[in-house]
Amino acid sequence: MVHDIEMLKRFYSSFVDRVATSRSNIGHPMTLAEKILYAHLYDVNQTTTFQRGEDYVNFRPDRVAMQDATAQMALLQFMNAGKTKSAVPATVHCDHLIQAYKGAGIDIETATSTNKEVYDFLRDVSSKYGIGFWKPGAGIIHQVVLENYAFPGGMMVGTDSHTPNAGGLGMIAIGVGGADAVDVMTGMEWELKMPKLIGVKLTGKMNGWASPKDVILKLAGILTVKGGTNAIIEYFGEGAASLSATGKATICNMGAEVGATTSVFAYDAQISEYLRATERAEVADMADAIAADLQADPEVYAAPEKYYDRIIEIDLSTLEPYINGPFTPDAACPISEFAAKVIANDYPRKMEVGLIGSCTNSSYQDISRAASVARQAIDQNLKVSSPLIVNPGSERVYQTALRDGMIDTFESVGGTIMANACGPCIGQWKRITDDPTRKNAIVTSFNRNFAKRADGNPNTFAFVASPELTVALTIAGDLCFNPLKDTLTNADGEQVKLAEPQGSNLPAKGFVQGDNGYIAPTGASTEINIDPSSSRLQVLQPFQAWDGNELLNMPLLIKAQGKCTTDHISMAGPWLRFRGHLENISDNMLMGAVNAFNGKTNSVYNRETGEYDAVSAVAKQYKSLDIASIVVAEENYGEGSSREHAAMEPRFLNVRVILAKSFARIHETNLKKQGMLALTFANKDDYNRIQEHDKISIVGLGSFAPGRSLMAILQHEDGTQESFEVLHTYNEQQIGWFRAGSALNSK
Ligand code: SF4
Repeated sequence: MVHDIEMLKRFYSSFVDRVATSRSNIGHPMTLAEKILYAHLYDVNQTTTFQRGEDYVNFRPDRVAMQDATAQMALLQFMNAGKTKSAVPATVHCDHLIQAYKGAGIDIETATSTNKEVYDFLRDVSSKYGIGFWKPGAGIIHQVVLENYAFPGGMMVGTDSHTPNAGGLGMIAIGVGGADAVDVMTGMEWELKMPKLIGVKLTGKMNGWASPKDVILKLAGILTVKGGTNAIIEYFGEGAASLSATGKATICNMGAEVGATTSVFAYDAQISEYLRATERAEVADMADAIAADLQADPEVYAAPEKYYDRIIEIDLSTLEPYINGPFTPDAACPISEFAAKVIANDYPRKMEVGLIGSCTNSSYQDISRAASVARQAIDQNLKVSSPLIVNPGSERVYQTALRDGMIDTFESVGGTIMANACGPCIGQWKRITDDPTRKNAIVTSFNRNFAKRADGNPNTFAFVASPELTVALTIAGDLCFNPLKDTLTNADGEQVKLAEPQGSNLPAKGFVQGDNGYIAPTGASTEINIDPSSSRLQVLQPFQAWDGNELLNMPLLIKAQGKCTTDHISMAGPWLRFRGHLENISDNMLMGAVNAFNGKTNSVYNRETGEYDAVSAVAKQYKSLDIASIVVAEENYGEGSSREHAAMEPRFLNVRVILAKSFARIHETNLKKQGMLALTFANKDDYNRIQEHDKISIVGLGSFAPGRSLMAILQHEDGTQESFEVLHTYNEQQIGWFRAGSALNSK
């Protein structure tokens, strides 16, 4: 079934003209990313050439996707916008709230009753406002979008940081906060700083144990978690064309791990084939007809260094499988060096659980290659040493893998098939361990491996790898096992070697069709009920407008040390259940951040009591006394999931300023949208001047203007004072959001 076919027809009938007009306006050959961006300008008549990394641009994306955890807040905001229908096609996907415990059937039943109130709310709001609804168990947002909605040349926003997965089908797909999604759904301009362009040229052809996942794991090591910030990664070269559409999606998905705005591949035969296999021949036909404009212009491919801000080249022929981690996805290590790394760093060597699936790696190709490795355990009489957990990406992939015997293979080696949902990837994993204080290692085919992300245990060393390598390590139960060269002892005492994985990009017999879990909207008459006594949902009250005064003498709430991701700011796992209730979820605010003064988490000085208490408790007390506070942090504050709660919670608890060495892009925008001040140190060493009992003022707000810095004044406890310059990236419109109290207030 092709969803939203009329919108697609309109899109493809105008795309070539729009690109031609933009090319003549900007006066040079265009990369693919530029074509898509310029074809989606909010004002089609705009003739400006935008400076990459400098200019803010208003866009008109084609569609919106929301996952259940973020959709609650997005839709609560949308309900306040006074519209009767979403201005563009949009969907909600119930994937984050299902806890992985006993297996798909029981877990979905449990989730359906535990989350009934939230699911009913999301279904009813979706129905009322013309939004498609994918019920629990239907699949993970990005896999479902890839199978049903992504289209070459299109532009979408999604309230999830791995929205760029759709770049595998040649779409510019960007992870945003709920407030951005509301902009698009209300038909307003959606603003983004014109991204820089990183060109990644893929040469050669992949072979053996190497997989598309290894392209991005290697690239993460090159770019690090910040290297893609404010940039689009555009892949090209004969190596790119050799990758399956779902392999391309895996690579784009994990572009989020290097901070990229999004990633994109050019339209090619692999994408066309995937569209046809997923019942979208009509879309493939329309894309085929304009294929030349769904890739960069020939001049760009001939001299890429002239058109991209940076070029990186990766040779697929020599690419090794990678294992990245622990605790950060950019700690890249080729398999040939991994055993030495494990030993040198004294990582726990026993591999305790292997987990495959997630939105990153749950295509038919991934599942079939992983199953081919699992099959060898049966065929070669090998004992599988560790538990295996499988989270298929969608009902379509699950049913097809079931028909083709792969689910049976996983179960035969002791694997547990969990729901088609995020599960352990977002901390929704009821893991049973003998001793949580013991260091332990897990390997996943997910995309993120920050401390505590999968099971909430800081002693879990999580590594990310391809699904096929994860299964091989699960069989061995040993992180130091290298299937490319090592052997294993089977039950007959023989030394056996695992053969290279085999799989197919697409199922030879086609995908199984059937109930895929979609519920179409019925219309405006649907009633929305929010129980005022609910602990899960709460009607959103607008934040107060700025009172026009400087922000004076704010007590330091926390000076966070080291990594402070959105997981640290607003933890997931059990807290996911409060995503629709701002007051309740605010109790987790910054509980994972390390206090630079005592090295502890969730223990900060309360200047009213002189005692140490939880961060949210201290902020709450300040708020009750009408005292605004400030948070200080280090680099890339707010990296990780696009979690606007991480911006809304401090706002709700009267934190007015986050002063950091640098910000992750999505989080910085989220802070701005919620009316917060996101400031950076002009001189990063000024971070060291901030003392635990300081009161901090931010002055210069009376003349707050784009490009004009502000001043921070520290009032130390000993009576001394010092001041320094702080910077911001607010444009006029964003300053308006600050003044109005939030972007939503300014609509
Ligand atoms: S990264 Fe994990 S939590 Fe996020 S959408 Fe994908 S599977 Fe779900």
